[in-house]
Amino acid sequence: MALAGVVLLSILAGMVVNYAADVLPRRSGGKPVCMFCGQPMPWGAYFRWWQPCPHCGRRRWRHGVVLALMAAVGAWLWLSPLKWGFWPVWGLTVYALAVIVMDVEHRLILHSVSGFGALLGLVLGVWRHGWLPTLWGGLFGAGVMLALFFLGNGYVLWKARRAGEPPPEEPALGFGDVTLMGVLGLLLGWPGAAAGLALAILLGGAFSILFLLYGLVRWRRLVMDAYLPYGPFLMLGTLLAILMAK
Ligand SMILES: [Zn+2]
Repeated sequence: MALAGVVLLSILAGMVVNYAADVLPRRSGGKPVCMFCGQPMPWGAYFRWWQPCPHCGRRRWRHGVVLALMAAVGAWLWLSPLKWGFWPVWGLTVYALAVIVMDVEHRLILHSVSGFGALLGLVLGVWRHGWLPTLWGGLFGAGVMLALFFLGNGYVLWKARRAGEPPPEEPALGFGDVTLMGVLGLLLGWPGAAAGLALAILLGGAFSILFLLYGLVRWRRLVMDAYLPYGPFLMLGTLLAILMAK
């Protein structure tokens, strides 16, 4: 397949990512909706993302970003030598982008999305590593995140009770993160899952430091209480580990 075909297909996949990220978290029943106000839009207007939404008047710039990103990453993957081959990495990139957009915009990892990832992770993991390392990797990933889930949320509850405050409505770590870490484990297998987790932690840490510095310059204070979604770093760590695979 020629490069132009890959770019075209990547842009089409980007349109699917945009549609999934708009429709799935809002449970619109498949009707195209605005990413900002959630109001239904006719199909023609929906795909003209550069025009203002007829309901809220905002331009849905994320659509353009996703399409440009998919075109660039698709071309780059096509031209790069990949140990896993082009199509598996390309497919995982599309999946990761959908997870990242939904987690950043809605702070949400839907069960249907993480369940689909687990199936994808199982199939690709067994293909790459065989059954046992794949299952151990998945258990390791979900186990680590489950421990963090109980520890982290237990700590938040304990802190709120000590301060005499009601417990926060949003848990520090969602259960979707546990499933997603299981997906990372299945894909990378054991011991690759440990390397993938380390990469995700490094990426998250580097981003947090940059964000703290940005806050220091922008608002002249350390913003320690900002919400940081974990999903994007888990997905980027997984992709990075696969790209680095020898
Ligand atoms: Zn709107």
